Amino acid sequence: MKPAYSNFFVLTILLCLSCVLFYQCTHDQRTTYQNIKDFADEVKVINTHEHQHWPEEYGDHTFCLYHLFHESYLMSDIVSAGGYRLDLDALDTLSLDALWDSLGEALNYTRNTSYYSHFIKGFQKLYDFNELYFTKTNIPFLSSEIEKNYSDYRTWFDASFHKAGFELMFLDQYWNPFNTEIDERYYALVFHINPLVMQVSNRPSAGDEFSQVYEKALEEGFTINELEDYLEFCDHLFQKNLDHKAVCVKNSLAYSRSLDFEDVPYEVARDLFNKPSANLTGEEAKKIQDFLFHWIIQKSIEYDLPIQIHTGYLAGNGNVLDNGKPVKLNNLFLKYRDAKFVLFHGGYPWTGEYAAFGKMFPNVYLDIVWLPQISREEAVHALDEMFDCVPYNKFFWGGDCAFIEESTGSLEFGKEVVAEVLSKRIERGLLTEDIAFDIVQRVFRGNAVEVFKLKEKFGREF
Ligand SMILES: [Zn+2]
Repeated sequence: MKPAYSNFFVLTILLCLSCVLFYQCTHDQRTTYQNIKDFADEVKVINTHEHQHWPEEYGDHTFCLYHLFHESYLMSDIVSAGGYRLDLDALDTLSLDALWDSLGEALNYTRNTSYYSHFIKGFQKLYDFNELYFTKTNIPFLSSEIEKNYSDYRTWFDASFHKAGFELMFLDQYWNPFNTEIDERYYALVFHINPLVMQVSNRPSAGDEFSQVYEKALEEGFTINELEDYLEFCDHLFQKNLDHKAVCVKNSLAYSRSLDFEDVPYEVARDLFNKPSANLTGEEAKKIQDFLFHWIIQKSIEYDLPIQIHTGYLAGNGNVLDNGKPVKLNNLFLKYRDAKFVLFHGGYPWTGEYAAFGKMFPNVYLDIVWLPQISREEAVHALDEMFDCVPYNKFFWGGDCAFIEESTGSLEFGKEVVAEVLSKRIERGLLTEDIAFDIVQRVFRGNAVEVFKLKEKFGREF
């Protein structure tokens, strides 16, 4: 039998060794994560999806924090928690205290969500705001800073854009889809085609008010009587967008209809177009829209424009979730092997089937845009799974926000998610740090430069 002090000695040694090992592990983990995050912070980001507005596009308002809540994703969580959406004019007239009294309780119930935490990250980065939550006492200071910044938003935007680490944003102006005049110092044009698809089944008859597309056609000297005329005008819009260096076509049709697009023959679509739109059944209206989306894909191949498609969860507080199920697009991927399809948002909550398409089809790309904001933890889990099965030259990142603070927060969030997934993969022995750096560079920049042909488009180095 050994003396007791010997056991004590061995135990002490073991304890010390465990401490060293524990320190080593946690230290390595922190260092790996930090190395990747630091590397990501140096990448000049090509942000493949934004809805940035100039403040005046919302009307004449004096912006405070509540105006930004109103235009952020966080507002949906506030409504979901029982709060209500005041219109922007009402926000101008109420005091900050009155607004807190109306919305503070619901806002506080959202402190756990990713919509909340990515939003606050933008303020931490751009406003040196060091708190974890918005409170009745810190909102007045933030609001006065916002008012100051938004009184000269162009200067504020420029400084923030660069501080956040952006080089270029793809601008989807769904609220102003025919505008081709954008500020090329920050933006690349996206051709938003929702109205073309949805309004092909809404041809005005004599005396009807013209919807957007028909009004625009008239304005540009096109008379639309037949389907052929409609297609000619659509082709004109393609040309016009190409002349303004459009980098891709975008649709978010799942907000209005299902993503299954049947292959409808031209003759069927032509005859349906000739029927008065008011007499079309729902099924007939869908057929003619389906035809048009197929036609748009064919044109996108001809003009070499990737097609961005919203899949999965829908923003706001009430819609048909099933509309955006990624698997509904399968027939398009099979038929159009020369098209470049870019699927958005991780297909959440169908992240697995979304990833499967990126794995199966060389011409299907995955843009994780918005997924980290919808659910940070789902983004970590899903991206880890995607990196298990999809080559890393198939990924992009976008912000999908209306103003610079939220885009900045989204980018911080996106980089943290990617760094977390990659550092864990390194710890598990699945990856080396140099390849992790290459993945970061490609997700936030390199893949977009390549697939959207930015050098050729803009005639400069990227
Ligand atoms: Zn979007």
